[in-house]
Amino acid sequence: MSASSIEAAAASGVRIPPQSGTSFVLHRGDVLRIVDPCGEQVADLYAFALEDHACALSSGRSLDYAGKLFLSVGDRLYANDSSVLFTIVADTVGRHDFTLTPCSQEMFERLYGVTEHHPSCFENLVTALRGHGVRPEQIGTTFNVFMHVAFDESGRIDVRCPLSRAGDSVELRAERDLLCGLTACSAENSNNGTLKPIDFEILRAG
Ligand SMILES: [Zn+2]
Repeated sequence: MSASSIEAAAASGVRIPPQSGTSFVLHRGDVLRIVDPCGEQVADLYAFALEDHACALSSGRSLDYAGKLFLSVGDRLYANDSSVLFTIVADTVGRHDFTLTPCSQEMFERLYGVTEHHPSCFENLVTALRGHGVRPEQIGTTFNVFMHVAFDESGRIDVRCPLSRAGDSVELRAERDLLCGLTACSAENSNNGTLKPIDFEILRAG
């Protein structure tokens, strides 16, 4: 399908408020455009085959088949059954993470000593996907759009400030019908200390 056959129809974009999430359906050929409207803000994406939630996004498959840690234009995001869920078709940043799970209450408690409730991508994905019959334990490692994670030679993980600037975007083409969850990340440390919205739009296939 050529870019010109994609109808930029559906959308006026949608804004995901800070520390929240949403869900939506993509059909094969649709392009999901995720925009960082303010800069330095992460968005966590997870997806299932629309008609079979046992088929879910797999970080391990995707990194293994790509042979690298950092995915960008031309790379594919695979499911646990090795089918292709997405192809990255545009990317103005070129640095995203696909190694860490969505931030969660447990993560805030373990890493940052939080004792009160803290909004999290995991909780927001659970809430957004519950109505589609998705159980919490079915949500795995998210594709962490704009998240800047670095690894030193000893293997130590360092979460850094995102490289995205206001207006930067990533576009992913759905390679089959998908149920998606998408968040504006709630982790202060992943977003240079301030929690901002994420915008997205769906460019429907012809
Ligand atoms: Zn998060």
